[in-house]
Amino acid sequence: MTTPAPPTHGTTAAVLEARHLTKHFAVHGSVRGAGRRLARAGGPAPVVHAVDDVSLALPPGQVTAVVGESGSGKSTLARLLARLITPTAGELLLNGHPAPRAHTHRRQLEYAKTVQMVLQDPFASLNPIHDVHYHLSRPFKVHGLATSESDLEDKIAAVLERVALVPADAFARKYPHELSGGQRQRVAIARALAVRPQVLLADEPVSMLDVSIRLGVLNLLADLRDRDHLAILYITHDIASARYLADTIVVMYAGQAVESGPAVQVTDAPAHPYTQLLLTAAPDPERTAPVALRGRGAPPSAVAPPSGCRFRTRCPYAMAICAEQVPPAFPAGDGHVSACWLLQDGRKSAEVLRPGPATQDPAMPDAHHARPEGDMRHLGGGEVMSADNA
Ligand code: SF4
Repeated sequence: MTTPAPPTHGTTAAVLEARHLTKHFAVHGSVRGAGRRLARAGGPAPVVHAVDDVSLALPPGQVTAVVGESGSGKSTLARLLARLITPTAGELLLNGHPAPRAHTHRRQLEYAKTVQMVLQDPFASLNPIHDVHYHLSRPFKVHGLATSESDLEDKIAAVLERVALVPADAFARKYPHELSGGQRQRVAIARALAVRPQVLLADEPVSMLDVSIRLGVLNLLADLRDRDHLAILYITHDIASARYLADTIVVMYAGQAVESGPAVQVTDAPAHPYTQLLLTAAPDPERTAPVALRGRGAPPSAVAPPSGCRFRTRCPYAMAICAEQVPPAFPAGDGHVSACWLLQDGRKSAEVLRPGPATQDPAMPDAHHARPEGDMRHLGGGEVMSADNA
């Protein structure tokens, strides 16, 4: 599939850029049966198509959100960008140059100094037998960034204050079990910031937090973007929070990028039926009627994805060409592209995504259509948000 072009807006060069990244995993275990069926049919060696030909760019001072449901490949993409796993194909550019191959420990350390990752689970990412001081001292020591013990103490205090964990000396003495989920995630972010990276990869950083503290962590990420000009990748399944935080949204489905563009444009005028489905399924505290979903079924097999457009098995607009040919990225607006045959012949999203066949799914949460910036009720299913670092 020809994925939407790297969504860099303006003239700012990307710090980190992925070009045609692909990751296929060999089939093992429970999916071996599907692999055997493919092998018996004389097909290629079966693999899980986790990420297929995805390109994106992370400019400084911008948040790029990658949105998709479970299994869409967004976390695998983050791990590829962090070089925790090796791509099957494609390349990474760091500040315009091919990223050095991280085949030695020293090279991996150099890369990690520029590109840091924050994981989804703040309860698992901190060792319960060590205090915050220990966790934050590690990056300074491993990367040789502290010149003395007093310099180390100053740097730990500074990074704690940067994530609003004050008084810093009190938080430095705490153990993970003494912290709230939001405070643990702030410690994880502080640990990532210790090496002064240029890129922060945040993999579902608020999905395991209570709804009442999500906004505080999202606002911290926004502050890191605005004041420290970090290039931030925000992985999420929640398109509403992506609209709130991100400058650019990339929508992934079944391992492929299907739409990308400015966050407001993608959420106000979705040009791909899957994006429309995501928006329809997002929470809306003001909706009183059951949601009418334009889309149906479940994601396809990652071992044997459908021919043509991978969304065609769920798409209410599917046509013959959708099964025959992979849709290229069609322009849908300024910096906005969508891999959907509905946009061929220069048509725009508003013309093609009219209300179509709908599937009622009363089990789904209330639907959401894009909201004005600043309206955060949808982030917590309507609950009032507050910062959590007190
Ligand atoms: Fe895919 Fe066709 Fe539906 Fe577009 S109309 S999303 S190309 S199945």
